[in-house]
Amino acid sequence: MSVVRDTGLMTTASERMAAAWTRAAVARGAVAVIDLDAYRSNIERCREIAGGAATMAVVKADAYGHGLVQCGRAAREAGAEWLGVALLEEAIRLRDAGVDGRILAWLATPGADFAACISRDIDVSVSTLWALDEVMAAVRETGKQARIHLKADTGLSRSGANAADWPALVEAARAAELDDTVTVVGLWSHFAAADEPGHRSVARQQLAFDQAVRHAEAAGITPEVLHMANSAAMIELPDSHHTLVRVGIAAYGLSPNVARSSAKDMGLQPVMSLRARLASTKTVPAGTGASYGWDYMATSDTTVGLVPLGYADGLPRSAVNAGPVYSAGRTTHLAGRVCMDQIIVELADTGAKAGDEVVLFGAEGPSADEWAAACGTINYEIVTRIGPRVPRVYLGESS
Ligand SMILES: *Cc1c(COP(=O)(O)O)cnc(C)c1O
Repeated sequence: MSVVRDTGLMTTASERMAAAWTRAAVARGAVAVIDLDAYRSNIERCREIAGGAATMAVVKADAYGHGLVQCGRAAREAGAEWLGVALLEEAIRLRDAGVDGRILAWLATPGADFAACISRDIDVSVSTLWALDEVMAAVRETGKQARIHLKADTGLSRSGANAADWPALVEAARAAELDDTVTVVGLWSHFAAADEPGHRSVARQQLAFDQAVRHAEAAGITPEVLHMANSAAMIELPDSHHTLVRVGIAAYGLSPNVARSSAKDMGLQPVMSLRARLASTKTVPAGTGASYGWDYMATSDTTVGLVPLGYADGLPRSAVNAGPVYSAGRTTHLAGRVCMDQIIVELADTGAKAGDEVVLFGAEGPSADEWAAACGTINYEIVTRIGPRVPRVYLGESS
């Protein structure tokens, strides 16, 4: 892991990016630069948008590929009261790295290590009676009370108790509270289509959530937090903020719905930049095919360059001929298919040579949104897929 400390001397964006070419990054020929100053600034911006609600920085899936612990710490520095992850083991890793404060983990299967969470003061989500039973067993094992968030399924049909199962879950959780086994800290749910504000699911889910909350409160539960909003709901649906918003994609400087608002318009900056160095370049005559299957065929004499990143590193194969790449002052694109370890880029007459830098996406290059459009997917997937074979270099990491 390489760390670049901001000495205050590196001022311009390109100087900061140049500093990310550490020895390890140069040796690999590729780097995912993670700008923690941008991340902290985005968290602060999200806290403004969230208004009076508290902020949970969602750092599941290695912080969408950006680095779990680094982003967890930076989110705290920027004032995020909560951190949220899917897997219990992600929460445990954060805690064991010394990240304190409130952490919620929401995805568990029978046999999950609830005791490890409870002993580390990590909040866990409970959607089912089996989970409540396992949490209560973990409380007996650890001798510590559990902090739980009851999840209502209001229409996504993912986790959460639906209307038919909610009363039994609430009753069992309330009984466990009266036994001093658990504290119900939160009631929560998740939207199916918050990125489409007029979507018919939205009002239905909000109504179902209100009903679930009223039912729990009538049963004697007094939650500290109510939460339903992800990034899209934080931006589009102020009446869904309740007392806490869970923000993932917006904090990474990407818009949850590029058709409605760009990250830039919302004052958000991209956090990840994927950069590489050309391994070689060559001139090829018209009629030359490139990469497997010859999906690319040079229509005139041109230059192509080789980049040491492929689908093993998380570039989608669907980027064939389309994935944008910035090189020597202009944006060009892939020549042909993505291979396991490498891609070929059309360089035309840019004059780029071996060792020169190319930018796949991020600050100063094409955006993750453009890659998503080229691949028929969403910006979330583009950044999250970037794998462990690409070294991360952190800008603005505090000591
Ligand atoms: C991933 C996730 C979020 C964050 O969603 P964004 O759209 O990235 O803001 C919030 N809540 C839950 C339950 C999630 O799984």
